[in-house]
Amino acid sequence: AKDEGKNTFRMFCEELTRSSRERINLIHALQHAQDRNELFLHYQPKIDNSTGRVTGVEALLRWNSADLGSIPPDRFIPLAEESRLIIPIGEWVIRTACSQQVAWKRVGCDLSMAVNISAVQLKSPGLIETIASAIEETGIEAEQLELELTESCLVDRPDEVIKILEKLRELRCNIAIDDFGTGYSSLSYLKNFPVTVLKIDRSFVKDLTSNSSDRAIAQSVVNLANNLDMVTVAEGVEHQHQQTVLEEIGCNFVQGYLHCEPVPPEEIPAIVRARNQG
Ligand code: C2E
Ligand code: CA
Ligand code: CA
Ligand code: CA
Repeated sequence: AKDEGKNTFRMFCEELTRSSRERINLIHALQHAQDRNELFLHYQPKIDNSTGRVTGVEALLRWNSADLGSIPPDRFIPLAEESRLIIPIGEWVIRTACSQQVAWKRVGCDLSMAVNISAVQLKSPGLIETIASAIEETGIEAEQLELELTESCLVDRPDEVIKILEKLRELRCNIAIDDFGTGYSSLSYLKNFPVTVLKIDRSFVKDLTSNSSDRAIAQSVVNLANNLDMVTVAEGVEHQHQQTVLEEIGCNFVQGYLHCEPVPPEEIPAIVRARNQG
């Protein structure tokens, strides 16, 4: 029994060094991902429930590493945040997404562009300038740029965050709270933060039709948003029955595999044309 304990401990240590080695390898590879053109963006359409038309997209980062293969964002974004590589990478995301929006607009495809911003980026000193110069250099209309922040961005040092968000609103960007309802912060911040969009988290959408409290939560979020002059987006809509309920409760926009997966930029104009004709 004593040996067994020792063995378990040794295995635990091996596991620990294996996983920290893996992390270090990933961070190292991520350092070069940008120069090696291994990063790219996919875009997921967002549909206006009142018209059924695609009115915007969300940019989602992809990494295809020459050495390590394709790595999902849920694995590399946390490491990019820890290593602060998310700052230069995020800057590339903002610029690329903005110039893509303008390129689409030139071919008659006029869409809003949502970009995910992590807490590390939000609190980095250059963010406002980065966004202001991306707007100026690409020519995107700031109203068409939407910045998605999670609640975790808002809880720590809220006074500072409010100032940053107010500057972003002065630029005329929209501000969305992503994964709304999953964080730990209180609702009172909605009153103080200049937010324009609430994104209802996938976890509430998942059991919308089978779980009456999930439906009640989604309905309350929509009512709350309406009363505060914000719009709602439901994410992770996979089934028609979820879509039906979201329309019933008055949710403004939807995103999910039911409508469209995230796709490479060259596919967007055809998708939008097919969906928005007539
Ligand atoms: P998120 O911002 O909540 O993005 C939504 C995620 O749900 C995306 O995963 C999307 O592909 C996925 N999704 C969309 N529709 C459905 C659906 O119907 N069902 C299911 N099961 N999933 C759906 P993805 O692309 O793997 O991104 C994961 C997370 O990584 C994002 O969650 C976001 O937090 C982060 N992320 C992605 N790109 C960026 C970026 O450029 N910057 C930052 N800071 N974070 C990013
Ligand atoms: Ca998002
Ligand atoms: Ca989300
Ligand atoms: Ca998420």
